[in-house]
Amino acid sequence: MSVGYKGDSVFSTPSADFTPVLKIKDNSSVVLRFTTPLSDFTGALVHYPKTHEGKTRMYVCLNQRGGTNDCPLCEMGDKQKPQVAAVVINREPESLDAEVAVFTFGKMVADQLRGLEEDYDSSVDNYDVKISTKGSMLTKKYTAITMAKYTYPMSEKDIELASSISLDNFYTLKTRQQILDEVNGVQADIGSLPF
Ligand SMILES: [Zn+2]
Repeated sequence: MSVGYKGDSVFSTPSADFTPVLKIKDNSSVVLRFTTPLSDFTGALVHYPKTHEGKTRMYVCLNQRGGTNDCPLCEMGDKQKPQVAAVVINREPESLDAEVAVFTFGKMVADQLRGLEEDYDSSVDNYDVKISTKGSMLTKKYTAITMAKYTYPMSEKDIELASSISLDNFYTLKTRQQILDEVNGVQADIGSLPF
């Protein structure tokens, strides 16, 4: 799924719609412009199970509003986690990086962005934000700070970049059977699962 590390970030491409997704490398930082206020971000409850191929994949939990309420991952005891997605402009793109991408994150980053909006009395699309990571995997901590004491609006080019990515279909629901096939391998049927 991922296409490799470039600079401080790695972009991976979900097969569904080829939207570039920003992942921040361990112990590094990126400077981003969120292209909408926090209140306009999208979100979903998601799972990150390991598939039979040993890959970690993201699935939208089927047990939530708009879902089909037959989530096999919840049944397997995998914990659903709230995730937020926002379109961001990468202020320090390496030559091969996408300039605009979707950034997904959890409650820790969302709370910090909410704090920035309160501190600046201005929504996060009005200033650049530096996101740093410390540690990796389960101990990975994110810190969001702003680079400047003043706010300034997005440029025309920023606005054009932002409009090139839509979050409308970012969280797509798979069917229960699709999830089971991908997680367990297409040969498995429901009767062979260990529960
Ligand atoms: Zn679930």
